[in-house]
Amino acid sequence: MNSRRDFLQKITGSAFGLSLLSTSSNGNILFEEGYQEPVLRVAIMGLGSYGTRVAEAMKDCKRAKLVGVISGTPSKVKDWQTKYSIPAKNCYNYENFDTIKNNPDIDAVYIITPNGLHREQCIRVAKAGKHVICEKPMAINAAEGQEMVDACKKANVKLLVGYRMHLEPKTLEIIQMRNEGAFGKILFFQGLCGFRIGDPNQWRLNKQLAGGGAMMDIGIYAVNGARYMVGEEPSYVTAQETKTDFAKFKEGVDETIQFQFGFPGGAVASCLSTYSMNNLDRFFLNGEKGFAEMQPSTGYGPIQGRTNKGELNHPHVTHQTVQMDEMAGMILNNKNPLVPMDGEEGLKDLKIIDAIYLAIKTGKKVDLKM
Ligand code: NAD
Repeated sequence: MNSRRDFLQKITGSAFGLSLLSTSSNGNILFEEGYQEPVLRVAIMGLGSYGTRVAEAMKDCKRAKLVGVISGTPSKVKDWQTKYSIPAKNCYNYENFDTIKNNPDIDAVYIITPNGLHREQCIRVAKAGKHVICEKPMAINAAEGQEMVDACKKANVKLLVGYRMHLEPKTLEIIQMRNEGAFGKILFFQGLCGFRIGDPNQWRLNKQLAGGGAMMDIGIYAVNGARYMVGEEPSYVTAQETKTDFAKFKEGVDETIQFQFGFPGGAVASCLSTYSMNNLDRFFLNGEKGFAEMQPSTGYGPIQGRTNKGELNHPHVTHQTVQMDEMAGMILNNKNPLVPMDGEEGLKDLKIIDAIYLAIKTGKKVDLKM
């Protein structure tokens, strides 16, 4: 691998990679000077903590622009209008956002609300004829995810999921090295994902709004990571649950789950999802010839990575800036990322999570048909 340009050209095999050429002094990825393609005009639904992070990151986007909001809190709408120069005609609430259909100045809606609301909101946005970007987990189970995929297909709009790690340079380099055989036949993956959750009254600990507990929120990174790091779909799942705080983690809200995957090529994965341990964010991949290690592996960065060949030195990028610029390419120019970010990809994680919960309930190995 001679240069970053060669690497990115190789992994994408298209001009898509070439858009990730240079980095600015603050580490953000820049696009070619004189970029002329259309800009993706986005409305954010849900002006909470992650919505705010995305909005801030979008200030540095070249191909995507925040132009609208959907919120149930008028004071937040007012603040965002001032902060991001959003015209009143692009502001909606949860009751009237179906009328976005009549707004030619919005191309896509980014759903950044509690997980249990994604299905209905996605279907309404699709029916309004706008492209959907949805936060992870895409829904709270595979049946709901399937409805979302079907609704977007029917409405002929795109459905993308906010899998920001799929565009992270160190992650992509490890995937490329694996594809080139640098680690030999892959035999083992370990994914450890967790943080210590605070306020017991938040939606993340409400089964209806969250769909579960740590697994839905943070464990999904290990589920998804196992798939893109090993490069195969798992063929079976086993899982075990541990609970230490029954008051905080009520029925249906998981605190800690250990889970294992088997892959058709012979690799196995051993993962942990938890709401009880801080600074748990580690991926480890090993094959017959070598290893890749990432810690932190899925946080907002800087991501750290090394392999048996040495440290990975790609500069830090703001994940959400890159994600939104690249999603503009996916929506407006039909570009395909190396690791998919579409509804089908979100659905695969939900099928696996359903199987993890089933394995816990039955105490048995659950076979997967992906
Ligand atoms: P948050 O609680 O900070 O924000 C949620 C927003 O939804 C708030 O503005 C809230 O007012 C609004 N909302 C609308 N209806 C609601 C209801 N019935 N109950 C509660 N809130 C309601 O949460 P967040 O951290 O921004 O998470 C939102 C989504 O983003 C989740 O799906 C989460 O998994 C995802 N997320 C993704 C990442 C990532 O790195 N990709 C990081 C954080 C969160």
